[in-house]
Amino acid sequence: MDGTFDYLIVGAGSSGSVLAQRLAAAGRRVLVLEAGGSDRRFFVQMPLGYGKLFYDPAVNWCYRTEPDPGLNGQRDFWPRGKVLGGSSAINAMVWIRGHASDYDDWHAVTGSSHWGWESARAAYRAIEDNEDGGDDWRGTGGPLFIRSAKVPAHPLVEPWLQACEATGLPRRADFNGPEQEGAGIYQLTIKGGRRNSASRAFLRPALKTGRVALRTRALVTRVLFEGTRAIGVEYRWKGALHQARAGEVILAGGAVNTPQLLMLSGIGPAAMLAAQGVPVLVDQPNVGAHLNDHQGINYTWRMNVPTMNDILRPWWGKLRVGLQYLLTGSGPLSVSINHGGGFFRTRPDLPRPNMQLYFQAFSTLIPREGERPVLSPDPFPGLSIGLSNCRPSSRGRIELASADPAAPPRIIANVFSTDQDVEEMLAAVKYLRLIAAQEPLRSLIAEELRPGPAVTRDEDLIDDFRQRSGTVYHPSCTARMGADPATSVLDADLRVRGVQGLRVCDASAFPTLIGGNTNAPAILLGWLGAERILAAR
Ligand SMILES: Cc1cc2nc3c(=O)[nH]c(=O)nc-3n(C[C@H](O)[C@H](O)[C@H](O)COP(=O)(O)OP(=O)(O)OC[C@H]3O[C@@H](n4cnc5c(N)ncnc54)[C@H](O)[C@@H]3O)c2cc1C
Repeated sequence: MDGTFDYLIVGAGSSGSVLAQRLAAAGRRVLVLEAGGSDRRFFVQMPLGYGKLFYDPAVNWCYRTEPDPGLNGQRDFWPRGKVLGGSSAINAMVWIRGHASDYDDWHAVTGSSHWGWESARAAYRAIEDNEDGGDDWRGTGGPLFIRSAKVPAHPLVEPWLQACEATGLPRRADFNGPEQEGAGIYQLTIKGGRRNSASRAFLRPALKTGRVALRTRALVTRVLFEGTRAIGVEYRWKGALHQARAGEVILAGGAVNTPQLLMLSGIGPAAMLAAQGVPVLVDQPNVGAHLNDHQGINYTWRMNVPTMNDILRPWWGKLRVGLQYLLTGSGPLSVSINHGGGFFRTRPDLPRPNMQLYFQAFSTLIPREGERPVLSPDPFPGLSIGLSNCRPSSRGRIELASADPAAPPRIIANVFSTDQDVEEMLAAVKYLRLIAAQEPLRSLIAEELRPGPAVTRDEDLIDDFRQRSGTVYHPSCTARMGADPATSVLDADLRVRGVQGLRVCDASAFPTLIGGNTNAPAILLGWLGAERILAAR
């Protein structure tokens, strides 16, 4: 590529897009290399196109984990975005910051108030342009439009909220406000009926400054070093290997690819690198370790009132909502699959919610092979309530499986490997049935379909979630930041220890997993990361 660059960013995902925008706004010249292609695709733009992207290798790395004992030996499917915007271009668009105390945890692990809650709150307010207006917590006028939680809700949301209230879970108007616990409607990264990915909100405006150069379909294969100083990267583009140089290299490839790229570049557990024939630059056992992710499961009921299934399943329904979307940008295709949500505690003595809820006014129990049939749901009125754990104690890891950069790394998810995670999930799934047993929801339910009324004993409920649960796509912490060199890869300024001129800025850098969805924290990491990077030069 022509020109000299202050920074080279690997990956145009949630964090990388924000980083490019912030560095360019500060007058720096930035080169972005992205393995995927353009996000100008219909199903990326249309919010409910989500289901179509789930298994699509044109925009998705489509990873599989190793057989997992915690899932009865099954391999889980891990979608990750491979397109401009990264996973924010294929995700479910829920905008959740997490619990304020999660950022106190970040402060504690990094030893830096820069990553603490007050800093995060100010940054979120600067990032957001919230349709509901600003206050001490929410922001307006920022680059990222956030759709209101007050949008007309599906008619089944109200009975569901009342059922939650009947269990003692309060109604919550804003999960990103002072209190997270409760049930309500999620804010979404949707603008004008279209997905508002990090590419749309940050990268594309940055490209217009003329200070950001972008190369798509460029797979970075390794970081180049002079001694222990990073000077650029090698990448594969149009069938040939190329090199690009910059003052500093920043990896933003996400929680699976960033540790893989570090290992391909000689930074990782020495024995693992040696086994794949990769020369060792820094023996760093924390690369790929500390993998932390949320695990979730849906319970599903047949209803005796119409649900979204009745609209999205028949051909005439598809035609109607399709026309509605194309002509007006509104209707069922313009929203997330999550019509409601919430946070609750499985024990009253816990200091903060440890479970997240997802309410979906449709069901997809009969998927076709290789399809997530959000647009072709079950041929009967169905409803799902899902949940996922907020801060599981199980840890997995990413391993280098091959010296070939195009080969996937090994993902050892290792879910439900602690008694604590199994016990809290058992308590949580029982709570789903408690909600469903409350009026007015109860009278609208015809029967429980999954796991079904026969599954009542603790051991059967546990077996059910080992059999049917899966990732909710929030892998993090695989190149984590921390004050303690013995348990982290990065210092509090995102610098890779043991080398110079190399940083990591994406979900792999999270010191701990946030109790909520991870797009907002990944965007925050890009925002605050840019401040650390600019402060250091
Ligand atoms: C199906 C799904 C649903 C989700 N739903 C939600 C949700 O509703 N709300 C929410 O908050 N979060 C959600 N998430 C999670 C959230 O989107 C991610 O945590 C977040 O986007 C991660 O950001 P990142 O910057 O770490 O990585 P990514 O956004 O994944 O970006 C990494 C980028 O780097 C590129 N890259 C990787 N390796 C290389 C290489 N070697 N060379 C060049 N480029 C490379 C990738 O192609 C990708 O574009 C979901 C995720 C998925 C997959």
